[in-house]
Amino acid sequence: MKDLLLFNPRKNYVYFLSINRGDNLSTYKVYIYACTDYNPDKISGLVSKTIDSIQLVKPIHGNIVIKPNLVMAHPKVATESYTRSEVVEGIIRTILKNGSDVNRIDIVEKSGLGITTSTAFRHAGYRKLKRKYGVGLIAMEESRQVRMGLDNGKIHKSIRIARAVADRDFLIFAPKLKTNVLSNAYSGALKLNIGSIDSKERMYHHNMDLHKKMIDILEVSNPDLIVTDGIRFAFGGNQMTQHGMDLGVLVISTNAVAHDMVCAKMLNLDPFKIDHILEAIERGYGPTSFDDIEIAGDLPIERVQQKTAGLDYGFYPVDEFKCNFKIISGTPYCTGGCQGITLDWLHMVKDRKPKTLKRFPKLTALVGKVTKKIEDKTVLLIGDCAQASPNIHAKRIVRIKGCPPTHKRIVWDMMVKFFLLAPLVRPSLIWDGFGLYPMKKIKGWLVNLKFKPPQNI
Ligand code: SF4
Repeated sequence: MKDLLLFNPRKNYVYFLSINRGDNLSTYKVYIYACTDYNPDKISGLVSKTIDSIQLVKPIHGNIVIKPNLVMAHPKVATESYTRSEVVEGIIRTILKNGSDVNRIDIVEKSGLGITTSTAFRHAGYRKLKRKYGVGLIAMEESRQVRMGLDNGKIHKSIRIARAVADRDFLIFAPKLKTNVLSNAYSGALKLNIGSIDSKERMYHHNMDLHKKMIDILEVSNPDLIVTDGIRFAFGGNQMTQHGMDLGVLVISTNAVAHDMVCAKMLNLDPFKIDHILEAIERGYGPTSFDDIEIAGDLPIERVQQKTAGLDYGFYPVDEFKCNFKIISGTPYCTGGCQGITLDWLHMVKDRKPKTLKRFPKLTALVGKVTKKIEDKTVLLIGDCAQASPNIHAKRIVRIKGCPPTHKRIVWDMMVKFFLLAPLVRPSLIWDGFGLYPMKKIKGWLVNLKFKPPQNI
């Protein structure tokens, strides 16, 4: 047990933190490598080199799960936001080369926006990994799940996760290096865990508590190895549709907190201003300062910082987004909820259909509860708190309900109520989200009635 004095700049207080750690304060090592192309051989070489020199908490053995970021993948509108298959292929080759008694390898994911994960696997090129290496592709919504109790959950007392994750012997996270306006501009290893849960649980307290929720999940899904795909870096827009740039970086480590602290610093973000990193630090999941981290590898962090300096990550208050809507943000301000999701939707339009911004109707949009007098012809209320705004005078009031409303709900309501077509409104995705997805959920219910057969590697 160790007592530390910490300052939390977000909440402006100093506090003591008692943490339980079995290791000493200099054991966190994060490797930053130059890796300019998606070459599985090179990626495998870098991962192998790292695990030869880093101290793994356990050997790579038994049932191995790889968790990538496939929140969405689409060849036209979501081209940069997911972990590329070549990175996962590099990891698989490393496992086959360095693992002992490997029983099975599963790639487990749950995509976002109510789109089927199997479509994301297909668009992201993961099916060829299944054909080539015999690995399992597990789409959480249609596969076997188990409920796990949480001893230290602040939001969840229990969660449902994929059975493969619960039964694994070794867990590898393969996040995409990208920005996300729902999580203080940074998406990395800790944020990846939102894709470990499904449906109503995923949206439960997806508001100002999002960071607590993320760290709750870490109790049952804490990676043993993390390999971040920063070869292309996606930034500045919607978490699914944003564009990217060549960054040429592969980051590898064994602790998710140390990993995210270094990646955030690489992007010129202050990790101590990112809620979910702070939450993980406060709960004792990793280092409390950069003094506890050794940065290794062949690419100095300063070189990466030079490349990311001055980039616009699009993370600002939602009412500062420039468009025809007059946006008024009330209380509370939920970065992971109504304000964040509205900002994310606006970025989605800007990313792929910027001309649509000019076609937005002139109206007043309230996000959060607003107490001052609001007068306009049309008032749009986004989220349940906005519905509680007491002083609205308008000919037409349009409501988008939810705490928060889902991305899918906002995209749909903007389409049917204002004829605003978001870039994701495409026949194939509408069929996927509203036709195929319910069928996959039914399949998931059926699959949960029986066990999966063993896999041959
Ligand atoms: S309705 Fe929206 S603003 Fe209100 S608590 Fe929920 S997410 Fe936050």
